[in-house]
Amino acid sequence: MQQSAVAMKHVGRSAVREKVLVIEDEADILELMRYNLQKEGYEVIGVNSGEEGLRVAQRERPDLVVLDLMLPGMDGLEVCQILKSGAGTQKTPIIMISAKGEESDIISGLELGADDYITKPFSPKILIARTKAVLRRLEEAPTDDRSTVSVHELNIDPGRFQVLLAGREIQLTLTEFRILHFLARHPGWVFTRYQIVDAVKGEDYAVTDRAVDVQIVGLRKKLGEFGTYIETVRGVGYRFKE
Ligand code: CA
Repeated sequence: MQQSAVAMKHVGRSAVREKVLVIEDEADILELMRYNLQKEGYEVIGVNSGEEGLRVAQRERPDLVVLDLMLPGMDGLEVCQILKSGAGTQKTPIIMISAKGEESDIISGLELGADDYITKPFSPKILIARTKAVLRRLEEAPTDDRSTVSVHELNIDPGRFQVLLAGREIQLTLTEFRILHFLARHPGWVFTRYQIVDAVKGEDYAVTDRAVDVQIVGLRKKLGEFGTYIETVRGVGYRFKE
């Protein structure tokens, strides 16, 4: 039963199934998600409104919330905001479900602290892959902003302000360095331009969100064939390849 093993977490000495709360008002989509997540070994609680989702999240303390943005009554962004500011649910990861063309909502959600998003229509495969990725990131020890990052062919040493690409040193500006280090510390995570600005800005210089685009162009050029590590997420921001 290798499949269900991934959906287990260890609490003390016993393994329990990971619990996913799905908040989605469209019954057939909710059932599709429930079916596929259960098949993968997750325990699934499905609710069809934001209000109920908040109550259940408080009571059940799920390991992950899958949250549709378009809900009757309280909308998904509001639910996201309350979950991310509430004691007990603050650290619960959230995957947003959005319809095409809701980029501004996706950006708002990410800036409110949502961890990832999926655009409708999506395949069950995407849902499962994102679920696993978000839960896995949670288990990985977060690296602090002074530790060396090794990912793919890159080795980034903030102590020495040095970047090695396949063993060869490349020269970056301070801003390029900070952006690369920030993105590479979180492979797979999508960040909005504003989040990138917020993460890299120092007292000595200002970076605007548009300037992030310019910095990324420069970075990719210096990374050469490895420039594709930095992926553009259309309408939303950037992500370091997982
Ligand atoms: Ca909906």
